[in-house]
Amino acid sequence: MFVVSAPSGAGKTSLCRELIDSIPDLRQSISFTTRNIRDGEQDGVDYFFTQTDSFQRMIAEQLLAEYAEVHGNYYGTSLETLNTAEAEGVDLLLDIDCQGAAQLKKNYRRGVFIFILPPDFAELKKRLYNRGTDHEDVIQRRLENAEQELLQAPWYDYLVINDDFQSAKKKLMAIITAERCRMSRTTYLLNNFTVKGDK
Ligand code: 5GP
Repeated sequence: MFVVSAPSGAGKTSLCRELIDSIPDLRQSISFTTRNIRDGEQDGVDYFFTQTDSFQRMIAEQLLAEYAEVHGNYYGTSLETLNTAEAEGVDLLLDIDCQGAAQLKKNYRRGVFIFILPPDFAELKKRLYNRGTDHEDVIQRRLENAEQELLQAPWYDYLVINDDFQSAKKKLMAIITAERCRMSRTTYLLNNFTVKGDK
């Protein structure tokens, strides 16, 4: 489980898309959300778009591995998403906020937690304005949230600065490759060398 968090405007969504396209056996986790569907988004592809009462039922029935309220809407990852990936032997890439990441960190010690940032606050502000997709009040709220999210950064395992897209992508790929080679995740491969009489 690779968990990626970043303030809005850090380039996280594009980087995650690139990783999914470039790395075998890595699957994007599709979250549930109560926010409205945006132009160009598809239900079941970008998110599972859900009514608030359905989402609250999922919370009550403990069907979520984590959830949080972000920018005024609920977002969450279902336990089924994690279980299916595990059963199928693929790694999951989760693009989720710090509150949800903290819940997973507490409950799933085997997760790898990565924080992405632009080089500095001025650049973050510039990227949010240049996107041209949000109103001034939304941008202000996202900047305030970013300050809060920064306080969470130190407990993540890795920090990737997205000053240049290709170099940030390379760093993320290196992290995933290295984590997949950890002895704690690969000891089962040693069994290939224990067949007697095969010397
Ligand atoms: P957006 O509405 O722009 O797609 O996403 C807003 C924020 O919600 C992003 O920071 C994204 O990482 C976060 N988010 C998306 N899915 C989930 C989820 O399943 N759980 C949590 N905790 N946050 C999520």
